[in-house]
Amino acid sequence: MSSKVAVVTGALKGLGFEVARQLARRDYQVIVTGRDAARGGTAQEKLVGEGLKTEFRLLDVANTSSIEQFTTALLRERGRVDVLVNNAGIMIDGERPTTLPEYASVIERTFITNALGPYLLCRALVPAMVKNGYGRVVNVSSGMGQLSEMNGGYPGYRMSKTALNAVTRIFADETRGSNVLVNSVCPGWVRTDMGGKGATRSIEQGIETIVWLATLPDGSPSGSFFRDKKPMTW
Ligand code: NAP
Repeated sequence: MSSKVAVVTGALKGLGFEVARQLARRDYQVIVTGRDAARGGTAQEKLVGEGLKTEFRLLDVANTSSIEQFTTALLRERGRVDVLVNNAGIMIDGERPTTLPEYASVIERTFITNALGPYLLCRALVPAMVKNGYGRVVNVSSGMGQLSEMNGGYPGYRMSKTALNAVTRIFADETRGSNVLVNSVCPGWVRTDMGGKGATRSIEQGIETIVWLATLPDGSPSGSFFRDKKPMTW
């Protein structure tokens, strides 16, 4: 049987790039996606230079047409997808909105990238997984979206990650009994452009549970939220 096809969003840097690398090392056919062709080419060259079989494709998760074009072409050309890592994300609450239209804009843009994009990707790709009898969806969420631990600040980011967790529950329910496993993960506070230099975890530590969920054996949990390979409360 040929190796599994894995799609990673926002894979040109940070956690996404390393997830792509680690899955390719495990012999997955990784589709490295991002919204910038030039940077995509650079990321692809680096991975191929390491002897990995990856492919770059343009995908802007905040753009419905881009999602439609990407998923249609992927299913037409490959006929299947086995793993979807919804990793792309933004945190723009730092733009410090003060007026209602500014708040609306920050929350709307964040929601589109962090929750609506992943929902549409699942909507487009999960049926093919169900048909194929295999699928692993990993939604890269955050403890900042955890309702049971909700603190103040960062409203756009927090609400978008809570919504992303809802996406996990929706598709976990819709795929029950189909060997498609859909889970959320909090990678912890990681030293990326988003997490900053002061974060407590390396990228290698941050991706451990993401890769674990992307490669779960049959019969593993679905519809749960994990950190450090352990379930956490919503
Ligand atoms: P990062 O270094 O800022 O990377 C974010 C990635 O998402 C970049 O590749 C970015 O692409 C991409 N992206 C943003 N908007 C996109 C769009 N519309 N279409 C396609 N790609 C888009 O951050 P990171 O820390 O690796 O974050 C990865 C995920 O982990 C995010 O979902 C984040 O919320 C989550 N997370 C991170 C931490 C942390 O401490 N770092 C903690 C909890 C959760 P560009 O390069 O083009 O901007």
